[in-house]
Amino acid sequence: MLAEMGLSPVWRLRRQVDAKEKRWIELKKAVPACTACGLHKGRTQTVFGVGDEQADWLLVGEAPGAEEDRLGEPFVGQAGRLLDNMLAAIGLRRGENVYIANVLKCRPPGNRNPEPGEVAKCTPHLVKQIELIEPKLIVAMGRFAAQTLLGTDATIASLRGRVHRYAGVPLIVTYHPAYLLRNLADKSKAWEDLLFARNTLAANP
Ligand code: SF4
Repeated sequence: MLAEMGLSPVWRLRRQVDAKEKRWIELKKAVPACTACGLHKGRTQTVFGVGDEQADWLLVGEAPGAEEDRLGEPFVGQAGRLLDNMLAAIGLRRGENVYIANVLKCRPPGNRNPEPGEVAKCTPHLVKQIELIEPKLIVAMGRFAAQTLLGTDATIASLRGRVHRYAGVPLIVTYHPAYLLRNLADKSKAWEDLLFARNTLAANP
């Protein structure tokens, strides 16, 4: 601390950036090596997250599916294409001011729901990602992301349409794109949620 006080603001900033880069590197090593829950046994690879590491927007989903497990990237396949189209409709692109991650980094077998113990073991990875990205807005997509980040068991329907907070960061709840593929009638609600998210970010620059 005393050593820090003698540094110019530029050097202090440089040190903070270096410390952050070091934490990213550590986290990117820790996740692929993680065996904290049983899901590590069935994974092809972990799915860390993708995008702009200094993004204003952080989108959080549930867990990798088969394609994500194969390719190592979240939200690929049909649900990913839907998400990309929805982002494009509000002028956003994957990787440009947007970061996408899941609550779980390994695929649950048969795409079953995450179990509470798995969520508890994996959430620290997501928490570290959020600390490092420092997003201005979080969009929780689906029940597991919303319930995990908000520490609630409330339904998506009851959580939508309000600004929640995660560690002080505005958080909007919406449907998971995979759910929207099966429930086309709710697409318009997800669209409303994204517009609400955009307006929320504009009001909290
Ligand atoms: Fe580790 Fe998460 Fe994979 Fe479980 S799901 S092994 S906690 S990275």
